Amino acid sequence: MSSSFTIHVLHSHPKACCLHNVISTRRGARVILHDGARIAIIGGGPAGSLFCIFASQLARDMGMALDFTIYERKSFASYGASGCNMCAGVVSESLVQLLALEGINLPPAVVQWGIESYFFHTEGGSVEIKSSRLRQRGIATVFRGGGPAGSLAKGIQSFDDFLLQRAVEHGACVKRTFIDRVCMEGDKPRLYSGGKMLQDCDLLVGAFGIKAGTGKMFEDLSAGYKVPPTTKAVQSEIELGSDWVERRFGHSIHIFLLRIPGIKFVSVIPKGDYITVSVLGKYPKSDHITAFLDHSAMKKFLPSGFQIPQKFCHCFPKISVGAAIKPFARRAAFVGDASSTRLYKDGIGSAYITAKAAAHTALLHGIGEKDFREYYFPACKSLNRDNLFGQHLFFVNKLISVVSPVSRGYFHIVQSEQKNLQKNTPYSDVLWDMFTGSRFYKDIFFRTLHPWFILYLLGAVVLYPIKKAFLFFANRWKGVVL
Ligand SMILES: Cc1cc2nc3c(=O)[nH]c(=O)nc-3n(C[C@H](O)[C@H](O)[C@H](O)COP(=O)(O)OP(=O)(O)OC[C@H]3O[C@@H](n4cnc5c(N)ncnc54)[C@H](O)[C@@H]3O)c2cc1C
Repeated sequence: MSSSFTIHVLHSHPKACCLHNVISTRRGARVILHDGARIAIIGGGPAGSLFCIFASQLARDMGMALDFTIYERKSFASYGASGCNMCAGVVSESLVQLLALEGINLPPAVVQWGIESYFFHTEGGSVEIKSSRLRQRGIATVFRGGGPAGSLAKGIQSFDDFLLQRAVEHGACVKRTFIDRVCMEGDKPRLYSGGKMLQDCDLLVGAFGIKAGTGKMFEDLSAGYKVPPTTKAVQSEIELGSDWVERRFGHSIHIFLLRIPGIKFVSVIPKGDYITVSVLGKYPKSDHITAFLDHSAMKKFLPSGFQIPQKFCHCFPKISVGAAIKPFARRAAFVGDASSTRLYKDGIGSAYITAKAAAHTALLHGIGEKDFREYYFPACKSLNRDNLFGQHLFFVNKLISVVSPVSRGYFHIVQSEQKNLQKNTPYSDVLWDMFTGSRFYKDIFFRTLHPWFILYLLGAVVLYPIKKAFLFFANRWKGVVL
């Protein structure tokens, strides 16, 4: 950074004090972004676009001009897998609010459906949960691409395209190119595609997710980066018509915790004319979709005689179940799925968190390995630590759903809580927070350890069968007497 720029920043922005302190205390060892620096972002999904938006806003505040290029191989306006980043498309209530605070309001063409409640379906019955905190349709469902394959649906705007356009408004240049080689040229990363050298950059942002092989390229660069562990999911879009979707699924996300071999849980997400069916399990296959649609718990939501079409939009995306190792290097930061993401929920919210932390580090502290370790990595570590609590919660949740007396007891409490939302609803809140993006797993975990929480649940497990038996015999007795 030139000294003239340092002085310019000092006079133009309060954050410059911090910048100045850092520079003056560790002058010489610093690698920082200078005015006109070139930032190459690989991947134009949520993490890449959000990084660009945050970094350019901050640069502008600091009176600095940066040059952003986003390399994205997909055209998000296309139908089917070629335009889609393959996800269930639920934008959590907290993320909808955070984006609005950033001035990013999701327009009606992007939001396919507003969500008011969650339905949980188990072998033992169903319960609807309306969060006591949710006063409006704060959760949105979106399509990541232009719409399902073979779709004739008009008026769908892709969520990823919407964010990418915001990044363009912030000055990004988008190139529809697949980056297939990165190497270090002197001190700077250099990008290639199809054997052609594209550019050198001052900072490389890896926002390439986990679904392409790009991460391996960076492992080979041997900066210590290792891609996150993944598992597969299977997902499909099923067209039922918006009237049917409204009537049968309402404004609710339906979570099915059933005993179907190989399946952990299934989410059904309403989106206009479609429902998105997302199956999470150990090695899910398209047969699992068929098995689920044939299950009596789901069959009642489908038109009678419903047949799954010969060709239907489905995909097998990878889902992250862990964290990347060392998601940073000198002049490089990895964000979104390529770094850390919450287990089974709110991946786009994690892209927001990591993109913002990386952008702030790059602009306010520097782009050296030490800067990213000190200021960016803590944000990743906090997500990773939280996932350990998440793993534990999903394990306990699985136990509860297979041990019938406990799951019946739990559901009985939740059902009574839902009759009076004015009172505290701790058991409903635990389920709600587990499956939506609202709360950290750690917070939920400690709530479930409260002695009252456990005692009351045990009480319900014991008392519920007694109450049922009592009602059964009372009704029989009434039948005999009357
Ligand atoms: C089945 C499933 C359901 C999910 N449901 C939800 C949900 O409901 N809500 C939620 O918040 N999250 C959900 N997620 C997680 C969510 O999809 C991710 O966390 C999120 O997409 C991460 O964003 P990203 O920008 O890091 O990566 P991505 O969205 O994967 O974007 C990466 C981009 O980089 C591009 N790219 C990759 N390599 C290159 C290259 N070499 N050159 C150029 N471009 C490249 C890709 O084309 C892609 O557009 C789900 C995930 C799965 C698998």
